[in-house]
Amino acid sequence: MCGHCNLEPEFVLHCLLDCHKVHAVWDSFGADNFAWFWLENNIVKWIQKGINDIGTRFITIIWWIWRARCDECISLQVITTQMVMHRASMMASDIDKCYGVSAVSVKQVRWVSWVFPISNVTVLNVDGSSLGNPCWSVP
Ligand SMILES: [Zn+2]
Repeated sequence: MCGHCNLEPEFVLHCLLDCHKVHAVWDSFGADNFAWFWLENNIVKWIQKGINDIGTRFITIIWWIWRARCDECISLQVITTQMVMHRASMMASDIDKCYGVSAVSVKQVRWVSWVFPISNVTVLNVDGSSLGNPCWSVP
């Protein structure tokens, strides 16, 4: 059983994403801005998308979620959502400084569309946007 909530089997994806105890962390981060975030059920793909779309901050949040879970299970010490977010933010900032990466901000998802052309006209989509693209299009 999950050592954090003691309600569900302790699978990695549950511990890092699905556990109701970590939902507040991801809500605080703004996970709803990423269409894939709550829908992915493959841990490897979820982490890959997190690294690609969010960057260092995603990894440090995962690390602090796991750390908070272990502290609570092993030493009965509770790390609050605010502490997880603060420490993850500080760690991401330190890592980015070490590697010369500028601060990564939360990307905003922007849905785009187009208007059907007037008849007898061909339109070529060249702006890189498409719905259903297996890869994320980046403006
Ligand atoms: Zn749980």
